Parts: sequence; C-alpha cells; structure tokens
Amino acid sequence: MKTLFEHAKVLLMDEAGSVLDDAFVAVEGTTISYVGPLPPEGDYSECIDATGKLLMPGLVNAHTHVPMTLLRSYGGGCDLDTWLHQYIFPVEEKLDQRAVRAGTQLALAELIASGVTCIADMYMFCDVIAEEVVAAGLSANLARGLTLFSEDFDPERHQGFCDMRELAEHWHGRNEGQILVDACIHGEYTSHPKLWSAVSAFAKEHALGMHVHLSETRAEQEACLARYGKTPTQVLDDYGIWGTRAIAAHGVWTTPEDWEVLASRGVTVVHNPVSNLKLGSGMAPIAAMKQAGVRIALGTDGVASNNSHDLFEEIKLAALLQSGVTGDPTALSATEVLRMATVEGAEALGRNTGRVAQGYVADLILVDMKRPHLTPCHNLEDTLVFAARGSDVVLNMARGQIIYRDGVYKTLNFEQTRREVERYALPLLFG
Ligand SMILES: [Zn+2]
Repeated sequence: MKTLFEHAKVLLMDEAGSVLDDAFVAVEGTTISYVGPLPPEGDYSECIDATGKLLMPGLVNAHTHVPMTLLRSYGGGCDLDTWLHQYIFPVEEKLDQRAVRAGTQLALAELIASGVTCIADMYMFCDVIAEEVVAAGLSANLARGLTLFSEDFDPERHQGFCDMRELAEHWHGRNEGQILVDACIHGEYTSHPKLWSAVSAFAKEHALGMHVHLSETRAEQEACLARYGKTPTQVLDDYGIWGTRAIAAHGVWTTPEDWEVLASRGVTVVHNPVSNLKLGSGMAPIAAMKQAGVRIALGTDGVASNNSHDLFEEIKLAALLQSGVTGDPTALSATEVLRMATVEGAEALGRNTGRVAQGYVADLILVDMKRPHLTPCHNLEDTLVFAARGSDVVLNMARGQIIYRDGVYKTLNFEQTRREVERYALPLLFG
C-alpha cells in the first residue's frame, strides 16, 4: 500500500519548527518514505489532495484509561478520594470483558476522530483492550494497573502481577510494536514496597517501560511523607521504579527536589490539566519542571474525570495555565505544547513517531484549515494551540492505514458500539 499526500501544508515537528507550504508526503507500508516540495517518483495506490489542509503528526495521548469512557460524567463534583471510593471503584467491580470491549471501542472512536494515533493506557482486562486497539489500527502502550493494599504479596498468586506477566508474554511488541506493554504500579498510595521491588525487577528483566500515577493530590504527597519521610518520587526511586523508560501521570505536587530525580532518571511526567482541575487536585508547575529538565508529555486521563478524549483541549489548557499562573505568556510556548502532544509524547512511549519525517511511523492527521474559527491563520502553531479542536481533524492515518476520513470510520462500527454500550454495558454497570 502506497499513499501520497499532495499539496499539503506540513508541520514537521522537527527541532527547527519547520512548516512546508505546498509539500508532498509519501507513505509506504507503515512508514513515511518521502517528505519534500516536489512529487516523488513512483506509482501510488492512493493520492490524496490535501490542498487547504494541514498535515501533521497524529497526537499522542500519554495517559488514559479507555474503558472508563463508560463512566463519562459519573461522580462529578467530587475530589479524587471521594470520586474513586464512592463512585468509581464500586462500578468498576461490576465490569466484565464484554463491557470493557464496548467501552474501549467507544473511547477509540472518540480518540481517532479527534486526531490521536497513539495512546498509553493503564487499566484491567488489558487483553481485550489490546485486541480492540489492534482492530482499530492505532498504537498503544498498555499497562495492567497493579495495587497492593497489604504486606501479603506472592507474585505467583497476585492477580494483577500474573495478568501483567501474561500480558507482556502475549502482547509486548506485537505487530512490529503496534502494542507495547509497560510494567506498572497504579500509584504509591495504592501499593506497598513489596510490589515495587517485584515490578521494577520485572520491568528490568523484560526491558519494559513503566507507567505510574505520581503526586496527583496534596493528600497523596503528605501521606507519603508521613509514611516514609520521603515524597512518592523519592521513595519509588529507592525501589528502582524509575530504572527503565518511565511515564508518571500528573506530578502536580512534586517538589524541585523531585524534579532533580525525575530529570536525572529521564522520567516523563504526563500533564493532564483538565482532569487535575476537574477533581480539584491542583495545577502541575509544568513550565518550572521543564526548566528543571523534566520531560513532559500530555494526556487526558480517563474520561470519567475529564470528560472528553479531545487532546486539543489539553493542548490549549496546558498553554493557558502556565501563562496564567506565572504571569508570563512565554512560560510555555505554543511550539513547546505541540511538541509535548506529538514528538515528546512519542519518545516517552519509546516510539519512532510524532514527526513528519522519512523513516518515521506514518501516524498522520489532516486538519481542515478552511474552518471559520481557523481563519485567518497568522501563525500556524498559535492557531493550532488556541483555536483548533479535535473535530477539525478530517483524516486519521495510523501506521500507514487510513482509519478515519471525513467523518467515516474505516475500522470501527460505531453504531454497533453505541448499541452495545446502551444495551449491555450501561445496564450492567448502572442497572
Ligand atoms: Zn489516571
């Protein structure tokens, strides 16, 4: 399969921030084979006229919990602790594979239509999620969220640990890396050091990444200090949790001392501004963390605390928050935020994507720049960050395959999914 995009404006997401005005981008198989101002040689099975459209890398949503889309707008108006224990955990206990499948399909439909080509997910029933991701066509780093609420830990009997081991055996690297499996602890506050030792050893042994919730709330930070005399970042470091490629969601209450640890270990903090604000958790000092050398990516978190999977909302809010909090409109530039949502998110997940360049995975989206709210466009990156919406995406190509075009899903049957959600999943969870 060879596809050629013709006459596109192209945002390369290279170091120089280059934009090509009337360019050609060729895709062969799953890879970008050519980017340039002149048509490349050769025959193409499909040529796409991209006049008036922007071709850019697909977005990377580096922290979500896709099946939680079934809980959209459930438990609103609560802090994290109340929301989790009184609303989320009791409903999650009723989940089964079929409901998770429906919730995953629903989430993927929303993600694909708003320009996401790659996700990092933490949840349960990860086999089902992996199957649906492969069928939908995008890429995912999947992590089985592990908890341990007592000292009693046997890796041969702990359900989550066994699930993680099987997930890694069956799925890690599947389809030339379409699925990667990350090791995981749900968070410091939901687990015990015995689990941390075992999980970090497992990640090192199998060369897996790591996915953790970190310092989301003030209460989490303070309880950890009281328990161990150290912050979550520091105590998890003692147990080697940051010993492989790692993503840490939130980091809202991390300290400058924590940033030194995170920077030195190469940990990427995933910023989820909408979820953090909605739950009243706070605002992560992203500009200061970047200054301190911490890598940053962007995520939506689960839709139950967002209530949307539109990463363009996070992009806009991330930029606005840092300007507002610091009083400096240059604190986090439009370019920096777009990098967080593309190339830096991709690096955080250990993936060769997030840029429009020869040899990179062909994760590409087209944005319709003729929309009223995108006209005129004096500055492309400023327009994308502050004016664009997920619904401006008119084409999603993941791993070289067009999976969404002009409102039509090519790999999903959304009507079937909607019926399954309404007739099976919602009655199961909410009666
Ligand atoms: Zn989360």
